[in-house]
Amino acid sequence: MNHNTTSKTASLLAEINQYSAHNYHPLPVIIEKGEGVWVWDVDGNRYMDMLSAYSALNQGHRHPVILAAARAQLDKLTLTSRAFHNDQMGPFLKTLCEATGFERALPMNTGMEAVETAIKMVRKWGYTIKGVPDNQAEIIVCENNFHGRTTTIAGFSSEAQYRDGFGPFTPGFKCIPYGDAEALAAAINKNTVGFLVEPLQGEGGVVVPPDGFISKARELCSQHSVALMADEIQTGLGRTGRLFCCDWEKVRPDVLIVGKALGGGVYPISAAIADAELMDVFTPGDHGSTFGGNPLAAAIGRAALSVILDEKLPERSDQLGTWFIDKLRAIDSPHIEEIRGKGLMIGVVIKESSGKARPFCEALQKKGILAKETHHQVIRFAPPLTITQTELAFALEQIQQVLST
Ligand SMILES: *Cc1c(COP(=O)(O)O)cnc(C)c1O
Repeated sequence: MNHNTTSKTASLLAEINQYSAHNYHPLPVIIEKGEGVWVWDVDGNRYMDMLSAYSALNQGHRHPVILAAARAQLDKLTLTSRAFHNDQMGPFLKTLCEATGFERALPMNTGMEAVETAIKMVRKWGYTIKGVPDNQAEIIVCENNFHGRTTTIAGFSSEAQYRDGFGPFTPGFKCIPYGDAEALAAAINKNTVGFLVEPLQGEGGVVVPPDGFISKARELCSQHSVALMADEIQTGLGRTGRLFCCDWEKVRPDVLIVGKALGGGVYPISAAIADAELMDVFTPGDHGSTFGGNPLAAAIGRAALSVILDEKLPERSDQLGTWFIDKLRAIDSPHIEEIRGKGLMIGVVIKESSGKARPFCEALQKKGILAKETHHQVIRFAPPLTITQTELAFALEQIQQVLST
């Protein structure tokens, strides 16, 4: 089954190239419709979505429960701003806090805003509660991190391209090698207020830290009164085979940062979640967002969360992920260096001698599989968690064909 694109795709691509900022390098496919794990392009070709919008589509495209909640809310109320209350935010935040086991949640829109919220929260906690001298607070981050694209966040990236040309940057961040608990211990000092970490690095190339790293980090943070800030924007909400990736090591962070699938692929919704000791450092006027916690977002977020829990998507991800990774490892391929991941967050590392991952993604597109390279050598497979084993088997067949020759 080979996919062909025609003039419709070509003319839309030309239009995008003319009018769009060139800050992405997408595969040359123009999608017009999606349902579950499938999307269709403007020429009528069907593809399996194996990226799920970087895990923002854990529930699949246009999940009926989420669409129904969105439609019902569209007919009632969409925005109040935080100058007034709306009747959807309370039920949403209660569901979110109960599902995660925390006392408070602060709703934002994009992932990077939730990360910024967490940074401001732990800094103010450091000054007002821990007793760090003014403007001396330090937050430790990891090499190869991805936490978003604001100037503050880009400033503590170790990826030259994310930083070059965008300085000067916010001070107060210290970088340690990912997965290195000894380096973390050495980096902590009396002014350290937080350790910001992805429990598994997604954009960094699906990098799984050594076993015990997150629990060791938990121990060190507790010992030195440092807030453990887990960025679970991509790894959370079932993606890695647990509700949160930190659950693999039974670790409860101090600040849990969520986004992406919290909006069910329908609407941008994010949140910084913590207990009162941290969250209550914010007083009226400290922080906010016009659209954060708006009634449409809240209604959609609550439905998105209910789908994750009701359909037991973390368990599905665990079972299907284990099956899929075993099958991938059984592929006899001259190109595969390594296969790694947890649940349905899987990276296939391509050997340098076989070139970059991109041409393999382009070959997969021709076979009806949409996947995207990350960090040049890695193909990421992260389909919606609603995928069936039959659908995964179809994907596997195409992947096998592309990788075994
Ligand atoms: C996607 C992502 C972000 C940023 O989210 P946006 O919604 O794109 O701002 C932050 N952290 C991680 C781990 C992510 O995967």
